[in-house]
Amino acid sequence: MSQHLMQTYARQPVAFVRGEGVWLYDENGDKYLDAVAGVAVAGLGHGHPVLAQALCEQAGQLIHTSNLYRIPKQEALADRLCALSGMDRAFFCNSGAEANEAAIKLARLFGHNKGIDNPAIVVMEKSFHGRTLATLSATGNRKVQAGFEPLVSGFVRVPFGDAEAVARLAAHHNNIVAVLVEPYQGEGGVQIPEAGYLDRLRAICDDNGWLLMLDEVQTGIGRTGKWFAFQHSQCLPDVMTLAKGLGSGVPVGACLARGAAAEVFTPGKHGSTFGGNPFACTAALTTLEVMAKDGLLDNAREVGAFIVETLKKELGQVAGVREVRGQGLIIGIELDRPCGDLVMMALAEKLLINVTSDNVVRLIPPLVMTRDEAALLTDKLAALIWAFLN
Ligand SMILES: *Cc1c(COP(=O)(O)O)cnc(C)c1O
Repeated sequence: MSQHLMQTYARQPVAFVRGEGVWLYDENGDKYLDAVAGVAVAGLGHGHPVLAQALCEQAGQLIHTSNLYRIPKQEALADRLCALSGMDRAFFCNSGAEANEAAIKLARLFGHNKGIDNPAIVVMEKSFHGRTLATLSATGNRKVQAGFEPLVSGFVRVPFGDAEAVARLAAHHNNIVAVLVEPYQGEGGVQIPEAGYLDRLRAICDDNGWLLMLDEVQTGIGRTGKWFAFQHSQCLPDVMTLAKGLGSGVPVGACLARGAAAEVFTPGKHGSTFGGNPFACTAALTTLEVMAKDGLLDNAREVGAFIVETLKKELGQVAGVREVRGQGLIIGIELDRPCGDLVMMALAEKLLINVTSDNVVRLIPPLVMTRDEAALLTDKLAALIWAFLN
């Protein structure tokens, strides 16, 4: 292992050299079932031939110009994302944290334009918004923040899932400009709020003139069985951020906005050298095209429901298993104890899983996973969890 990498990750001792669908192959040719998908990134699975072909062609034509010029593929991607989401305008960047930075800047500028010179954004406990200074400050996890103080100010925190806690803030703060929330928390342990939560937040934001900003970096692009998780509710956000699944592994993020929020940024207020270049936009456009053509939203819903149902059957009565929950292909199995060791146990069985929030096994496989592959996954995982708890 090279001594020349900064020690930001405790890496598993395996390197993959090739992939096909939900399968990854290591340097020895051993085959692993991938229920992580590069952390909810590889929705089309690995080595998708249509994506590979589109990227090869684009790389040969033109990889990068600059946002100093028009970029037709970026315009097409903005049109497509707005058509799918009901939003009006898009800003393109290169990661989830950057997309949220754009949203935070947008909300602050929105406030300043209204004469609020110390704007505050409501954020949630157990949230995750990224690793840059502003986004780690918005994040509701002390482990992410510790050592990086002074944090960026201007965030007010309430419990996730409690819309009335947000409503109560209006009485005590006259500087709130926005609510930033994940529709379902991913890093926070696959937390799914009660039905109606987003709709209630929408109403509270409308009552107070606040922006509803959804971090769909993990839940967007089909992960939950709809294009965007907010589409399980009745409302539209003012701002939505995307990244992970958008480019199938080619770095691309987006901050979309609607209505007044879409008019906040004017030339010079924000930018990105790489953001929305022809190569990245080809990756995103092709991802969206293949997802629609191959019915991956329906597949995520069906296969996700099968996994949850099967794991509930196999683990529901097992002591130590608190809950199996999910929506589409983001699934959490909450145990009553820390279970990070399960990751290495699974690796030994040639299965890639992730543990988040200490005690939640998170499954975020490629959206192309078939029912048979899902059955393999549930068989292996149920046995592993049973062995871990006994
Ligand atoms: C992963 C994630 C981010 C950060 O994305 P990066 O691309 O790692 O910067 C932000 N928000 C949510 C909800 C995420 O899951």
